[in-house]
Amino acid sequence: MRSNSLTLFRTAARCARPCPTSYRTAQYGIRWSSSGERQWSTPLAKSLAEAITTTGPISVASYMRQCLTSPEGGYYTRQTTGHDQFGAKGDFITSPEISQIFGELVGIWLYAEWLAQGRKEKVQIIEVGPGRGTLMDDVLRTISSFKPFVQSIEAIYLVEASPHLRNQQARRLADTEEPSKSDIGWTAPCKRIPGCNIIWCEDIRFVPKDETSTPFILAHEFFDALPIHVFQNIPESKIPASSTILTPTGPIKPTTGPQAPKNNWHELVVTPTSSSSDSKIPASSTKEPRPEFQLTVSKTPTPHSLYLPKTSPRYKKLENTPNAIIEISPESLSYISDFAVRIGGSNPPTSPTPPLCTTTPTISSQSAPLKKSTTSGAALILDYGPSSTIPSNTLRGIRSHKPCSPFSSPGLVDLSADVDFLALAESVLNASPNVEIHGPVEQAFFLGSMGIKERAERLLRGAKDEETRKRLETGWKRLVDRGPDGMGKTYKAMAIVPWQEGRVRRPVGFGGDVVG
Ligand code: SAH
Repeated sequence: MRSNSLTLFRTAARCARPCPTSYRTAQYGIRWSSSGERQWSTPLAKSLAEAITTTGPISVASYMRQCLTSPEGGYYTRQTTGHDQFGAKGDFITSPEISQIFGELVGIWLYAEWLAQGRKEKVQIIEVGPGRGTLMDDVLRTISSFKPFVQSIEAIYLVEASPHLRNQQARRLADTEEPSKSDIGWTAPCKRIPGCNIIWCEDIRFVPKDETSTPFILAHEFFDALPIHVFQNIPESKIPASSTILTPTGPIKPTTGPQAPKNNWHELVVTPTSSSSDSKIPASSTKEPRPEFQLTVSKTPTPHSLYLPKTSPRYKKLENTPNAIIEISPESLSYISDFAVRIGGSNPPTSPTPPLCTTTPTISSQSAPLKKSTTSGAALILDYGPSSTIPSNTLRGIRSHKPCSPFSSPGLVDLSADVDFLALAESVLNASPNVEIHGPVEQAFFLGSMGIKERAERLLRGAKDEETRKRLETGWKRLVDRGPDGMGKTYKAMAIVPWQEGRVRRPVGFGGDVVG
């Protein structure tokens, strides 16, 4: 059984998102034990606080990474008892969990793209962040009707950080409790495609990359889970002459005097909230405990504040906007660059960019260069975020279908942030000379042009009872509803496909027709 109308998708948490200043105001009580020692909500909260006390404030990216994928109780990596993060009993719901039609249309999209590119051999199906495996299961069920396509598939790769979700995907897609170890991760035979293996690994860089493969890559609600750095433009900022910047290669002194770069971007960093006596309100007297962590502005530059805001002219344009806040996810840019290189091959190598240089650097794929004589494959990114503006203040927490502070109960709260689609697009074009981007378009447009209504009508005609009919009806409508309670407007689709000289072709779902 899929959707439930009481379930919340992740963007719905946005409305209750606190702004950075309210992170800093004490609203609720911290928990204390009878001995007066501060009680942390989770073991991860305690170890984060101890680490910050020892080494200093951490970036939002480090905080997010620890909260989501730390082996010691990260949100995705911790052992969940009985039920997982998704669905009515979990914390949030995603499109594939709402309606089977979502995965079916994604499967059709892949097939249409395979036809349009001349039925290539050596196909790799790759999904990053597959969750429960629901999307992949619906995709494989759908494409298994197209025999020539299925026969061209060499292997299915799933990139997953969580061992528990990996096992859940293996149960669903391979009818096995635990996949066996392989040289790049784990493997098990695919249930829906006989003779084809599913291979799991923890990072896209482990997925074999060669010039003759045709990768079809899916990323659904993956980029929103990748860590972001947050910067605020603070006018007239002065770097104290004595300040030292801690870098991974040792401390350095910033340049001062007239030659010093005018850098107003300050990183917002995470620290534990104060344990002063005025906050010593017993937890029982408040509804919700006060968040244990808060955002503060770093007074001195961090390695990231000197580097990341210079990576795009889009950030530069905001240099005259006091207090502007921008979010940048280098991990997302590295992932999307990797996708681009797999499809279109890489740009000729340039000299490496040192992280603290003063010219305009770009963030590119860190993996080995790839020369592709024939470009092939595609990537479909489905996620939420603005079409062209830079996300600002979008870090949010969600737990049991309710919005909550991203700075409380680390490891028990899902954290996510809006995806910067334009930043992804810029990275794609910087990484490969032979790819083109389509979109982002609204999910309502993408699914509408893929035929969601027609598919839903067909399923509705065959519905065996009223309950199934109702579930199908509310499910598909929710996916394309452009109102505040729907997913049609906030969620977007973006595609990367090969660029072919002299041939202009829009992919299906982005204004094009099926060709083959
Ligand atoms: N695509 C699924 C799940 C989205 S939740 C759906 O729409 O239902 C995010 C998924 O990404 C989870 O499977 C999570 O474990 C995985 N994930 C999060 N961070 C990751 C990382 N850094 N590397 C690999 N997988 C990650």
